[in-house]
Amino acid sequence: MALELEPGTRLVVATHNPGKARELAEILENRFVLVSAGDLGLAEPDETETTFVGNALLKARAAAEASGLVALADDSGLSVAALDGSPGIYSARWAGPEKDFTMAMKKVEERLEEAAARDFSAWFTSALAVAWPGGPAVVVEGRVDGVLAFPPRGDRGFGYDPIFVPDGHDQTFGEMDPGAKDAMSHRARAFAKLKAALL
Ligand code: IMP
Repeated sequence: MALELEPGTRLVVATHNPGKARELAEILENRFVLVSAGDLGLAEPDETETTFVGNALLKARAAAEASGLVALADDSGLSVAALDGSPGIYSARWAGPEKDFTMAMKKVEERLEEAAARDFSAWFTSALAVAWPGGPAVVVEGRVDGVLAFPPRGDRGFGYDPIFVPDGHDQTFGEMDPGAKDAMSHRARAFAKLKAALL
């Protein structure tokens, strides 16, 4: 089986997060017919791996096996230098079952206060994996560096966007035009690598 993705391929996108699904669709420039794991009623596997790459592969493989389609999955998160990389792969879990990111951002701020941190540097990571049913898989990782800013600013993004200011910019990801974020984001960088590997 060739590790290539022809334009028009039906791809199942293994995310149940509408914010990430929208960004992936924009980054993929309508090259593929995207079907979401949610639309197919696929169960979300437990993210039992300890790295972004491991979890992205696990989700892509599970969706490919369950759907019989080529599957694309991402695992991503915010890592804070002064918190030894937390929340990292637990970024979604810090928001709890209610997906309360106001609380999760507050938790980051409190942890930084507890640690008396002076270094507010942080980065977003995105691992993207493509898996073929019963077959091989490809995985890549992209990263964008920045600093955290409190209180949160802007309501245009999702998750931790309102506290993340990418290096070289003044606005948070939450304040930025979504196109500007998509052009520099960890997901865009991971996708550029995926394109180089597969297209
Ligand atoms: P998962 O990849 O579904 O495990 O979740 C990753 C979590 O990381 C998301 O729920 C967000 O909280 C956070 N995250 C990942 N990418 C971004 C981003 O671009 N902006 C803000 N938060 C993000």
